[in-house]
Amino acid sequence: MSTKDFLEKDYYKALGVSKGASAEEIKKSYRKLARKYHPDANKGDAASEEKFKEISEAYNVLSDAKRRAEYDEARSLFGGGARMPGGGNQYSTFDLGDIFGSSGAGGRLGDLLGGMFGGGRTTTTQQARPRRGADVETEASLSFSDAIDGATVSLRLTDEGPCKACRGTGAKAGTVPKVCPDCQGTGQSSRDLGSFAFSEPCTTCRGRGLVVDDPCQACSGSGRAMSARTIQARIPAGVADGQRIRLKGKGAPGERGGPPGDLYVRVHVSGHPVFGRDGNNLTVTVPVTFAEAALGAEIKVPAHRGTPVTVKIPAGTPNGRILRVRGKGVRLADGTVGNLLVKVEVQVPSQLTDSAKEALEKFKEVTAGEDPRDELLRKGRT
Ligand SMILES: [Zn+2]
Ligand SMILES: [Zn+2]
Repeated sequence: MSTKDFLEKDYYKALGVSKGASAEEIKKSYRKLARKYHPDANKGDAASEEKFKEISEAYNVLSDAKRRAEYDEARSLFGGGARMPGGGNQYSTFDLGDIFGSSGAGGRLGDLLGGMFGGGRTTTTQQARPRRGADVETEASLSFSDAIDGATVSLRLTDEGPCKACRGTGAKAGTVPKVCPDCQGTGQSSRDLGSFAFSEPCTTCRGRGLVVDDPCQACSGSGRAMSARTIQARIPAGVADGQRIRLKGKGAPGERGGPPGDLYVRVHVSGHPVFGRDGNNLTVTVPVTFAEAALGAEIKVPAHRGTPVTVKIPAGTPNGRILRVRGKGVRLADGTVGNLLVKVEVQVPSQLTDSAKEALEKFKEVTAGEDPRDELLRKGRT
């Protein structure tokens, strides 16, 4: 997979999901499409085969958090379309490291030196324009209860920004970078191939338009450095394990007045000793005695962070039946509320008192004519 692929192909569209889709949604959609277009199911159909390759490629990237972040970043930098500064033929000479490592610093240097050379000598028009900050992806762990109620979490983020020691110039303190002698500061070198003129990043300055004789020691001349920040992020009520939340404008700062990028937080939710989650519903398994299930009963079941609720078990309730307690599930910000799903689990006593044993023997005696396996045995013979 090349940078060219990243910029030209819309993997989200290929899988029919939105840009904010969770890993689960991506997986689901991929499975559905993969079944539909699988070559085995479409023998000899070239269009299906092509489609199958396309969704496989998309899934390879989007199912890997790190590669998905790279993909998102590459597309956010160049507007999501297949557009690169200077036109179409130069993709193959770029790699992502070059783009991320140099264009920002180049622009910064261009601005800086623009003043020194009497104005206007920025490296390319692309770099002089405001640039939106990169989207950033991070992770947060929440307790079961905080995920239900929503919580404010501290997130420590590292951003790439101008090196403080050289203020982004890449040159050792007291020295100034020089305009690249090979490209005269444009950062681009042209190659004439008859009817085509290829433009590619200058190899001498790696597209920055400037070279330094004495590199800054702090950043080895790159002009870029990592800096850390801590932000408070509000995680909305009702998030599920593995969900990806978008916090608008909390990503990397923009450059030259551009807006900041977005922050994507992948949420990990820990388990609860009593409750489980099924979407907006809470689940709980409650043991009942054989007598309660057979005769019916009113039992108390736990409610999350509240007083226990009373649930009526109808007479003749089978093991595993799920009873619903309305409105005792997860409450979302938009007002929708889930239910509490109570799974009945009939318990068999492992020890019996003499009188309990006597009562059960009596029960066995009076129900001796009923064999619960009658139907099973009959059907087994056919
Ligand atoms: Zn150059
Ligand atoms: Zn530096």
